[in-house]
Amino acid sequence: MTPRGEPLVKKDMTTDPVCGRMLTADQVKHRYTWRGETFGFDSNWCFQQFIQDPESYHETDERDD
Ligand SMILES: [Zn+2]
Repeated sequence: MTPRGEPLVKKDMTTDPVCGRMLTADQVKHRYTWRGETFGFDSNWCFQQFIQDPESYHETDERDD
């Protein structure tokens, strides 16, 4: 089903993995590429939290062990 009007999630939006906010390109203050994936952050605080321990913020559906 496709809702009318503006889509809820735009293609250029990204989710801050630390605080969970949906960010537009304008709201992204920091970008960081980790394991080939680029993450966007709305603040330096979120960015610092992520780079200290990316594993704890990266959502994985399954484990590879
Ligand atoms: Zn954030």
